Amino acid sequence: MVSQMADALHNRLIAPCVAACPVGVDVPRYAGLIERGMFAEAHAVVREAMPLPLACAYVCYRPCEPWCRRGIMEQPVAINALKRSAVDHGDSTLWRTRLETLTTHPTGKRVAVVGGGPAGLTAAYYLGRRLGHAVTLFEAMPELGGQLRYGMPEYKAPRDRLREEIAQAVALRVDVRCGARVDDLAALAREHDALLLAIGQARGQPLAVPGARLSEVQQALDFLREVNLGARTSVGRRVVVLGGGNVAFDAARTAVRLGARDVQVLFDGPAGETPAYAFESGAAAEEGVRFAELVAPLRIERVGRALRITMQRLRVAATDEVDRAITAPAAEPPCALEADLVLVALGRGADVPSSWGVALSVQGTLEAQSSTPAPLTSTQMMVRPGLFGAGEAVSGPDSIAEAFAQGKRAAGAMDRYLGGDGEIGETLAPPPGAEMRMPSHLAHQGKAAVVMPLAAAASRRANFALVEGGYTKEQAQAEARRCVRCDLWRQKIPEVWRAQQG
Ligand SMILES: Cc1cc2nc3c(=O)[nH]c(=O)nc-3n(C[C@H](O)[C@H](O)[C@H](O)COP(=O)(O)OP(=O)(O)OC[C@H]3O[C@@H](n4cnc5c(N)ncnc54)[C@H](O)[C@@H]3O)c2cc1C
Ligand code: SF4
Repeated sequence: MVSQMADALHNRLIAPCVAACPVGVDVPRYAGLIERGMFAEAHAVVREAMPLPLACAYVCYRPCEPWCRRGIMEQPVAINALKRSAVDHGDSTLWRTRLETLTTHPTGKRVAVVGGGPAGLTAAYYLGRRLGHAVTLFEAMPELGGQLRYGMPEYKAPRDRLREEIAQAVALRVDVRCGARVDDLAALAREHDALLLAIGQARGQPLAVPGARLSEVQQALDFLREVNLGARTSVGRRVVVLGGGNVAFDAARTAVRLGARDVQVLFDGPAGETPAYAFESGAAAEEGVRFAELVAPLRIERVGRALRITMQRLRVAATDEVDRAITAPAAEPPCALEADLVLVALGRGADVPSSWGVALSVQGTLEAQSSTPAPLTSTQMMVRPGLFGAGEAVSGPDSIAEAFAQGKRAAGAMDRYLGGDGEIGETLAPPPGAEMRMPSHLAHQGKAAVVMPLAAAASRRANFALVEGGYTKEQAQAEARRCVRCDLWRQKIPEVWRAQQG
């Protein structure tokens, strides 16, 4: 029986979505469980891959979806919406009960984690609960969560549930010290057997034009932090955001909710090259945020009570070796725009005190970063013997899924450094069952994804309530039927796939 179960899990192909997921969540398995209405089991499958499944289900940038094979037929499976249905509708008692039965003996080793964001929390969980080390987690801010708590606006994920999930992740063998910024790394090193730097990238790239230091010119990251701390509840009428990434659009959408009537994002490249995901910029447009491409600020001046931003129009003069635009000033004369607040979202860097003696790359990341696209190895995660790095501090601005993946890898690497085997796997889902058979009633060709219910754009402008409503159980089951179970194609190629292949 046990070997049959193992076969059911192992005699499978690696589905494209699983290969594309930084933490390797078993997407087809949870889709198969949801399709059968087994939401608690699906929740357990997601939880097996990470200690913060709720955070992932609500805010993941879903790097898997562009790789989904169903996308070749008509549209990718709404993989993240399914994950959210698993955590929303699936009782967590199932995996929690199982977790309580997994015991680990204390190793007597002392480990410090600096930074309580997604990477640090993930590493602290595995190092403490799973591997048995005594972890002290130092976080500079009053609460854990990193950018999940102080960067992302509240309309993305329910704060109370996130808080509960984080508390659960650090409940065993993790001594949490919030409001504890680490300055003296050498002292920490003397008191611990290994250290992890998971300090993120919370320092905004400065704007280098005259007027950048005016008080109404603010880093978007600082603005979002103030809003998330409850320290800022209003903005002026006109807000300009400089940048084109996800942070720029989050800042713009936040300004809209604080009452700004005219919010514009100005980007110095062509619209098609903004680093932001289309779903982030699209949601901002629905909420009335305007966007202008190919403009760069020349200077900012105070004119009466307002700011005047003088801008140069740009043109695409050439393209580089990867076909990205190289811009140059356009022939038109500079133009001007008035605003009450300018938010700067031009990039981020790690905040590393020079006393730490840690080398940084030109991109502002810890030098532990691998120079190859391959996954980081344990030594590449090591800044120097006993000192490890993980998350955005190493990767540069990325995503929570990548931060989770790095937190896991760092925990394994640190355990090996401390003499362990680095094995962090946990089995929290029940043994494989009916979901390991190809479903007989897959959605027919041409069936579009079930649309995620969204709050109306007009009501979104007025508050920080959740934008995405989440699937009902029935909607989730219907969407799960669109998954063609690429993992089970050794058993059978589904008819719906054969049909579209002609
Ligand atoms: C505005 C915004 C919106 C985003 N939206 C999304 C999204 O929707 N989906 C997504 O996948 N990703 C999103 N991201 C990216 C995601 O939040 C990050 O990739 C992720 O948080 C990185 O995790 P981390 O643990 O490496 O760093 P962080 O989350 O930055 O955590 C680092 C922690 O270290 C602490 N710290 C720093 N220095 C010290 C010190 N010396 N002592 C003690 N503590 C210290 C910081 O206070 C912070 O809490 C967003 C990022 C931002 C800024
Ligand atoms: S069809 Fe299903 S298994 Fe295949 S890539 Fe998409 S979500 Fe993954």
